[in-house]
Amino acid sequence: MNALGLQEIPKQAAAIRPSFDVQRVRDDFPILRQQVHGKPLLYLDNAATSQKPHTVIDAVSNYYETYNANVHRGVHRLSEMATEAYEAARVRIQKFIGAHCLREVIFTRGATEAINLVAHSYARNRLQAGDEVLVTWMEHHSNIVPWQLVCQEKGARLQVVPITDEGEIRLEDVERQLSPRTKLVALTHVSNALGTINPVKDVIGMAHARGIPVLVDGAQAVPHLRVDVQELDCDFYVFSGHKVYGPTGIGVLYGKPKHLELMPPYQGGGDMISSVRFEKTTYNELPYKFEAGTPHIAGAIGLAAALDYLDKTGLDAVAEHERRMVRYATQLLSEIRGVRLIGTAAHKAAVVSFVVDDPPLSSLDVGMRLDLEGIAARTGHHCCMPLMERFGVPGTTRASFAMYNTEEEVETLARTLGNIVAERRARTQVAISTPLALDAKKPIAYPGPAASSPQEAADELVELFDYMEDWNDKYRQIIEFGEKLLPLPDEYRTEPNRVHGCQSTVYFHMRKKPGSRNTLEFLADSDADIVRGLIALLQNVYSGQPADQAAAFDVDGFFRRLGLDQNLSMGRRNGLGAMVKRIRSFAADMVKQS
Ligand code: PLP
Repeated sequence: MNALGLQEIPKQAAAIRPSFDVQRVRDDFPILRQQVHGKPLLYLDNAATSQKPHTVIDAVSNYYETYNANVHRGVHRLSEMATEAYEAARVRIQKFIGAHCLREVIFTRGATEAINLVAHSYARNRLQAGDEVLVTWMEHHSNIVPWQLVCQEKGARLQVVPITDEGEIRLEDVERQLSPRTKLVALTHVSNALGTINPVKDVIGMAHARGIPVLVDGAQAVPHLRVDVQELDCDFYVFSGHKVYGPTGIGVLYGKPKHLELMPPYQGGGDMISSVRFEKTTYNELPYKFEAGTPHIAGAIGLAAALDYLDKTGLDAVAEHERRMVRYATQLLSEIRGVRLIGTAAHKAAVVSFVVDDPPLSSLDVGMRLDLEGIAARTGHHCCMPLMERFGVPGTTRASFAMYNTEEEVETLARTLGNIVAERRARTQVAISTPLALDAKKPIAYPGPAASSPQEAADELVELFDYMEDWNDKYRQIIEFGEKLLPLPDEYRTEPNRVHGCQSTVYFHMRKKPGSRNTLEFLADSDADIVRGLIALLQNVYSGQPADQAAAFDVDGFFRRLGLDQNLSMGRRNGLGAMVKRIRSFAADMVKQS
């Protein structure tokens, strides 16, 4: 095992498995055979959740089809079978992470719940006013907020290890921040947003030298690295099943018994007790003390099947294959003019994050255009808002790799991204020569009514969209609308005008039209093309219309008729909802005041 917590690939084993048959692996994942928007699915959102091989799908459906029963309770055959499979899954996980015994392996709903369990049952009982929990700047919100909650309650605080421009922590910074006040260190093994592999073994050694326990968030490590919790000597290790080819809703907390024994139960209920009386309840032994209620039996069985699959495929070979993907993607993407990689650590696993600076293109737009080509990549802050702030970007586009991704897919990603950037560059150059920009001498223009009522304006748009065959055409039409948006003067780009809840930066400036009885009008802008297009749609139906009609307009029905409810992701729909809310509450206020 080296300083990064990785087990070195034994020379002999590497020689036995010189080639990795990615095509054979792909055949095991039924979902990869489908098309999205008429293009073969290219799935690069593995850090969010990975796809499932048919052995996992079969294990879960076989449980439900042939031996579905509750565990630990029945004497009947099916219950015995379910209990055996559930407990066999625990054994499987114990082996996979190198835990010393089964008492150390607790099933949870996922990494998030496992961290919350430790925050609640361990940290909450130990933290006092003035104490500190040490995290790093690259943590997922799941490894920040649970600590914040207990710190707030106890008057303790979070200390944050800074990161370098490459996206690495420096051990001297960790050393400097460890103090007698530090009661726990919680850090990620692998960053979900950058891919950085942290030197967790070194950090654990430094913390232990001061008697400080360490929790390692292994959500992004377990699918890619060989993890041995005894080698690492961590106090707690957490991960989620769904990121390691298993089902959602199942995860694992590994803990050293010396801590787990002293920790009170996290939740109360069935299975976690040994006897219940109104006067006094005694708790079950480990690990059941922390598993209240009926567990996710199918999830545990599916997770064990996933780990079997990963072992059978060969984790070292998978890791090597993924390293190749990351190296190749890093090389190809960094050759695209205008693309900047975020996170260039020396040791990285399976993630390449980037922004498009020149010409500026929001990650939201990049993600949506990739989606039109069948490429599933993640955009936004990746649940790492402080990290995005550290890099001075609202979000990134993230390609994250798994065992079934291929070099051809990396090339398709790079080629498609190159085209998106080039197309944007060409359009930006045309836009600079168009007279849409603000002219200081001219009065600011607001969009007038597009039709005699919001409903009529909406009907006209729906008619136009009905002629378009697929989402691709509708998407391009929305983008074209956005290109004609009237400009929003800088003086209106203020915090009160900011619409929160959108994945991009959005400003709305609304007013009652001067001299009118109750006409509402507004200007708005966003850094994302798609949002600018949606703003144009909203202006078309609302701006220049009487406030009472605007307030009464059935906007949800309008979105449905356009097909937006089916084609916009939930995040985008929420953003659209936030903009509509802004318009409707302004309209309602106008109606009240008139
Ligand atoms: N930690 C990291 C590093 C993650 O990437 C994630 C999920 O993306 C989590 C924790 C939370 O995992 P889950 O949502 O499965 O609980």
